[in-house]
Amino acid sequence: MVMCIDMMNGNPQSIDFSDVDAIVVGSGFAGSVVARELAERADKKVVIFEQRSHIGGNAYDEFDETGVLVHRYGPHIFHTVMHRVHAYLSRFTAWYDYSHEVLADIHGVYTPVPFNLNSIELHFGEEKATALKDKLVTTFGMDNKVPIIELRSQDDPLLSELADFVYRNVFLYYTQKQWGLAPEDVDPSVTARVPVLVGRDNRYFQDTYQGMPLDGYTPLFKNLLDHPNITVYTSLNASDVLEFVSSGGEVDDAPFSDVYVNGTPFDGKVIYTGPLDILCGKRFGLLPYRSLDFAYKSFAHTHVLPCGTVNYTVSEDYTRITEYTWLTGQQLDHTTIMEEYPRSFEDLAGQVPYYAILNSKNEEHYQRYRALFCKLPQFYVLGRLAEYRYYNMDQIVDRALRLAEELCEEQA
Ligand code: FAD
Ligand code: UDP
Repeated sequence: MVMCIDMMNGNPQSIDFSDVDAIVVGSGFAGSVVARELAERADKKVVIFEQRSHIGGNAYDEFDETGVLVHRYGPHIFHTVMHRVHAYLSRFTAWYDYSHEVLADIHGVYTPVPFNLNSIELHFGEEKATALKDKLVTTFGMDNKVPIIELRSQDDPLLSELADFVYRNVFLYYTQKQWGLAPEDVDPSVTARVPVLVGRDNRYFQDTYQGMPLDGYTPLFKNLLDHPNITVYTSLNASDVLEFVSSGGEVDDAPFSDVYVNGTPFDGKVIYTGPLDILCGKRFGLLPYRSLDFAYKSFAHTHVLPCGTVNYTVSEDYTRITEYTWLTGQQLDHTTIMEEYPRSFEDLAGQVPYYAILNSKNEEHYQRYRALFCKLPQFYVLGRLAEYRYYNMDQIVDRALRLAEELCEEQA
């Protein structure tokens, strides 16, 4: 059993930190993996502060009122090419063998995304489709992936025609909804996540390992955090307990020189996985993020979608709909779907900063916050929020394992 204490009605000042070696802020993959490693490998006493009433970060799942297992913070499909990440998580969960498939609704034609050779055949007559497929294969090679930006830059009439079709029907409207920007104005790494695939594999990911935790993500986290050296305090915002003090007085940019916990200096490790701007009282203004609103609908049928997710790339206000029973393999006579409505993040109550908006101006803004911690060698930032990056779960687990290795070696 995880040692989990909910602080909703508790007094954080009453927590005794005298024998604590490390404080971890956040119980998503970043915080939970690092906590487990420090507790298990280095025999450190670790406490986790989690502002939400539950563990698991954005991967948290739970049964809705109709008994369908849903992901409360957006659909999460595990996939990785990293053997060690898969092997590590396999200590804490068995897997449901699931390969995610996504269809784009392009004017009523369900089309495999990433756009591939099968997708071409759905939208072009036989002769044109053959010419486009041949050109793609001879130019890029079978089973290779081509980001839409690269495809658009090709100086060839056939490839330009295809690029234009895919840009207009897959990327333009979806990206405008998701980011409030045209595809050419978002960081190229973002649209490159979903490249054109010169092949016939209809899966969304081609990674070696893919699947879903057999009993769900929340049980995985319960197993991960089940260690006698770990105590989790939920409903506790780090800012209620942690204080960062600068010896540079009132100057906004003066780096912090000390960490206090409940008013007492703390010289153990602090691993922070939340947003840095919020931790610093937004002193340089809010870092730009995109957020999402979710709308759930229940139906008395087994399935309402043809696959796990349908992307609405030319219509609707939402970007995509996910039907959870496809992802989890739950066998029921009813189902729940979830629509995603992107929006800007304004730090209002209940809003979550889901996506960092990557560009050089925002990176500079982020680095200004990061610099505040340059004189605190015991403070580590880790995770999608704290690092202001667009990381998948497997990348976070990998980074957490690396940081834990570094910290364990320091102790040795
Ligand atoms: P988080 O999971 O965000 O955890 C951070 C935790 O810190 C949160 O629980 C938060 O409440 C807590 N926290 C923050 N500030 C404080 C504070 N001041 N005090 C106390 N606690 C605090 N990845 C995939 O691999 N596959 C997918 O299919 C996938 N789908 C996604 C869909 C959506 C809509 C989104 C937004 C992301 C998706 N991801 C997916 C990415 C995945 O969510 C992240 O990689 C992963 O959750 C990052 O883990 P983390 O621990 O860094 O952050
Ligand atoms: N994208 C798009 N159309 C699609 C799928 C993705 O335009 O049908 C673009 C969009 O800009 C999106 C990005 O590719 O933000 C990355 O998509 P992904 O599915 O990886 O996003 P996530 O699951 O992280 O929200």
